[in-house]
Amino acid sequence: MLVLVATRDDQGRAGGDYCHAVEGELVTPVTVECCLPDACGCSRGFPGLVSSQATTTAMVVDRTAITPSLLRQAVSDSLERRGWPSGDERDRFDELVDEHVQSIVRISRAFGEGAIVRRDGPTFWADIERSAA
Ligand SMILES: [Zn+2]
Repeated sequence: MLVLVATRDDQGRAGGDYCHAVEGELVTPVTVECCLPDACGCSRGFPGLVSSQATTTAMVVDRTAITPSLLRQAVSDSLERRGWPSGDERDRFDELVDEHVQSIVRISRAFGEGAIVRRDGPTFWADIERSAA
C-alpha cells in the first residue's frame, strides 16, 4: 500500500529544511504543534513512527509488505511509546489512530508514488514527482 516515509531527497530546497527522522521510516502527517510552530518548525514536520523525530520531506512509496492493519498497529505502537493515550484520552485512542491512518492513506493517494510531500500546518503539497526506482 502507499505510505509516507522520511526522505533526505529534496532536503535543503526550502529554507529551514530538516530531517532528524531515520530515512525510510514510516512518518505521519498528523502532529501536535507547539505554541511557536513557525519558529521551531513543527508545523512543517512529519514525525517518524519509530524515531519520533521529524522531517520536512516525506516520500510516497509503495510498501507491499504493509497492510492497513499493520499500518494501524505501527501508528498505535508509536503513539503508545510517546505516552498516548493517558487518562481520558483512552476513550478516543482508536479515533486518534484512525485519523493518522486515514491521513497517511489520503495524502499518499493524492500525491502518488514517488512524490515528495511537504506541509505547512494543514496544507500539503508536492513540488517534485519522481518515478519509482
Ligand atoms: Zn514546535
